[in-house]
Amino acid sequence: MPFVPMKQILDEARKAGYGVGAYNVNNMEQIQALMQGASELNAPIILQASRGALQYSNMVYLKHLMQAAAEDNPDLPIAIHLDHGPDLETCKEAIALGFTSVMIDGSIDYSQTDANGAHPARSFEDNIRVTREVVEYAHPLGVSVEGELGTLGGIEDDTKAASIHLTDPDEVEEFVAQTGVDALAIAIGTSHGAYKFKEEPKLALELIPKIRDKAGDATLVMHGSSSVPQDLVAIINQYGGNLQKSMGVPIEQIQEAIKLGVQKINIDTDGRLAFTGNNRKYLAENPEVFDQRKYLSEGRRGIYEVMKGKMLALGTDGHADDYEPLTLEDAKAWYK
Ligand SMILES: [Zn+2]
Repeated sequence: MPFVPMKQILDEARKAGYGVGAYNVNNMEQIQALMQGASELNAPIILQASRGALQYSNMVYLKHLMQAAAEDNPDLPIAIHLDHGPDLETCKEAIALGFTSVMIDGSIDYSQTDANGAHPARSFEDNIRVTREVVEYAHPLGVSVEGELGTLGGIEDDTKAASIHLTDPDEVEEFVAQTGVDALAIAIGTSHGAYKFKEEPKLALELIPKIRDKAGDATLVMHGSSSVPQDLVAIINQYGGNLQKSMGVPIEQIQEAIKLGVQKINIDTDGRLAFTGNNRKYLAENPEVFDQRKYLSEGRRGIYEVMKGKMLALGTDGHADDYEPLTLEDAKAWYK
């Protein structure tokens, strides 16, 4: 099956009321782990790559690994998505690689960086301008576009914002109408990276119905939605790691957000923690091993176990053959 447009996966999820994980990938083991989980659960899936992932993998390697996932799983709807595209150029590169969806993060200005490595927020008008530019390029090619309104805390790759602003529901209708985005990332108090919260967070879930009400056909996206499981942090620290105490987003709050109208759930950190923890434990317990296939297999198993659990918790399981998958060619008709 060729990759499907992300809009189809999210529209179908919205109709049926479940969530779909968008999992960040950088290498073969992550992709295999995720595909094993999705395949066993008959679940649609969004594989996403950040600009950092494309740089790490020299782009073409990651592209072919993602294609291998589709070839190996011809019955699953899979979308491949650029996470946090900083500008039109990067979105164009991803589309040229065959991505079926791109995010243009117009909420912050990646071309400006302060002394702390943070990027300033863009004005509402500026965000609309850069986002619309990408939509005008992507839609005639059938490619889905995600925009962002509001800014998150924390850091993951290059996403550090100089200030945090929750999404203002009063801006949503105009943003969606002016840009034509298919999906909208909202800021309701989640945060990027492993160091999200000192104590259990209380997300601004009450904003979701207000935003959903104004978002028209756009589906909603939650970034920074890893749960930072304490058992994974403990394993890393037990075997030589040194992570600070931190909390992520409890899965119950994500499930509540899905009920209130969020469809795409971005998860990166939890996979990193599972991979690192399992690798550290295996190497510590088997100091004579130098065959990387042995410890990478353990890392891969860690990601598989954690991510299969996510797919079940988000309700994605069993939905892969609810619908006939479409191609980018089909999707062009939506935007005529
Ligand atoms: Zn993000």
